[in-house]
Order: sequence, then C-alpha cells, then structure tokens
Amino acid sequence: MIIQCFENPEHAIDWCQAVADQGLTLGFVPTMGALHEGHQTLVRQATLENDRVCVSIFVNPLQFGESKDLETYPRDFESDAKMLEQAGCHMAFTGTLAEFFPGRLDPEGGLLPEYLLDPGPFAESLEGEFRPGHFEGVATIVGRFFEILKPTRAYFGQKDCQQALVVRDLAQRMHGPEVVVCTTHRETSGMAFSSRNTRLDEAGRRAGMFISRALFGARALWFQGERNPAELSRFMHSVLNQGDLRVEYASIRDPEQWSGEQPDGPLTRAVALIAARAGDVRLIDNMLLSVGNDAACKEG
Ligand code: AMP
Repeated sequence: MIIQCFENPEHAIDWCQAVADQGLTLGFVPTMGALHEGHQTLVRQATLENDRVCVSIFVNPLQFGESKDLETYPRDFESDAKMLEQAGCHMAFTGTLAEFFPGRLDPEGGLLPEYLLDPGPFAESLEGEFRPGHFEGVATIVGRFFEILKPTRAYFGQKDCQQALVVRDLAQRMHGPEVVVCTTHRETSGMAFSSRNTRLDEAGRRAGMFISRALFGARALWFQGERNPAELSRFMHSVLNQGDLRVEYASIRDPEQWSGEQPDGPLTRAVALIAARAGDVRLIDNMLLSVGNDAACKEG
C-alpha cells in the first residue's frame, strides 16, 4: 500500500475530515519520527482497531528544554515512510510550529504562553522534574492534534509511562479521543526500542542495558514478595551503579494514584521508572511490577 504523505497540515486536516464524512473511524499515532519497531507496533494496533490510521511526524520544539537535545534528535524521513507503509499506515503528515499554531507565535517564532496547555497532575515529579516544561509542550501539541484531526482513538506507548498518563488525563478533559496505551516493544536483549538508541555507541549501549536489567530485576523481586518501594528502588540503583550511567531517577509509583514523592508503601500496584544518561544520550524506561506484562497505564 502506498501511503499518503502531507507536508502541509491543512491537507492532513482535510484528509481526516473526509474520513469522518465517510463515517469511518480514525486511529492517530503521534510520533517524532526516527521510527523503529516500537512505533510500528502502535501503528499495527491502530490498523486493527480503526478503518483508517494516520501518523504525525513532528519533532516538537515545545517539549525540548535543551536545544542540543532538539538539534541532535535523529531524523530519517525516507526510512520513516517505509516503516509506516510496512505497518499499514494510511496517511503521514508533518508541518511546522507556525503551521500548527497559525497566528499564535511571537516574533521569535515561539508559541505565545497563553496557548500552552496545562499538563495536569501526572506531570508532577520524575520527567516533570528533570525536564521542566516538557509535559506542557507535549500536552500542547497533542491537544492541538486532537483538536484539528478529531481522531476516534489515539495510540501511545507504555515506554513513556508518565506521558501516557498525562495524555489520557488531557483526552478526558477534552472529551476525546479514546487513548490506547500499547505495551513496550523490546529488543531480545530486553532493551526498549527508542529513537535515541541510534545515538548510542558500543559503550553507551552496554551501559544502557543496565536499565532494563534493573527493571526486570525489580519485577523479579516483586514476584518474590517485595512490596516496599524504598527496597525496590535501592535494588534498581544497585544494578544501575554497575553500568557507566548517570542516573536521574530510579523510582517507584502507584500508577493509579500518582504522587510527587515515592510512596512509603507497602504497595499493591507498582510501576518502576528509570531515567539515566549513557554519555550524552538520555534514556528512559519503566515496567509495571504488579502484572505479567508492562502495560501499566490501562486504556482510559
Ligand atoms: P516518540 O517518537 O519517541 O515521541 O514516540 C512516539 C510514540 O511511540 C510514543 O507514544 C512512545 O511512547 C511510543 N514508543 C516509543 N518507543 C516505544 C517502544 N519501544 N514500544 C512501544 N511504544 C513506543
């Protein structure tokens, strides 16, 4: 199947409107490109549950605090189109901040602050603390996409657990779409697929492996009966310390009762979350400890 690719968001909006006019359902997968098998699983799930599927490819400047991170974020549009075609996507589009927010930018090209959306309570701590403004940027672009495309369902990865919680809450406040959270797709090594993995050299990759090792280890501890968040977090730090990593956090939360601080426990539900830097590559991953797979954030 040859997918439609639009560089002008107006054409994407018209395409989505035509889908709605035909009474068809639309699945939407927002991405920042540099697509990998993890993105493909979201697209495939969307094709199973909707008549049409569209994907945005937009490296959103609003969600990057560090300009170096934004500049070095990998981009490969040709490979992206091929991967989307293989996964059964019908339409992909991109655009610029000015095209997505016409008349809402300041003279320097930044979004006027009154158009930033409140990311809500799930933005507190962890990613919210280490990447100030990040979830505001995510909520703002995702909210805008929901507003202009009006998808039936939107697909997000458990890989970005806190983002999935923020977006589910946002969609509820906006009265749609239905947010579907898909399981993290992992390499056979256990490492989560991530666009940033392409920036890891051999040493970085070796170091990065300790992240999934710490998460799988924490889950094994949970199955052995450990319910104390402080113990689980201590264990993860001890594994991460064996790798050449700069750990930002290795923490436990109740995924259904988000809290700024790690709860005291003992817990009946838990998700373990890690962010660490291997060299200058920032990696995040997480795992639900309290069920057999890692879809911590259920469909909302
Ligand atoms: P990104 O392009 O990094 O913004 O990711 C776009 C979507 O793909 C987000 O909802 C991510 O959570 C999701 N995603 C990224 N990596 C994976 C993965 N390994 N497995 C499943 N979903 C993923």
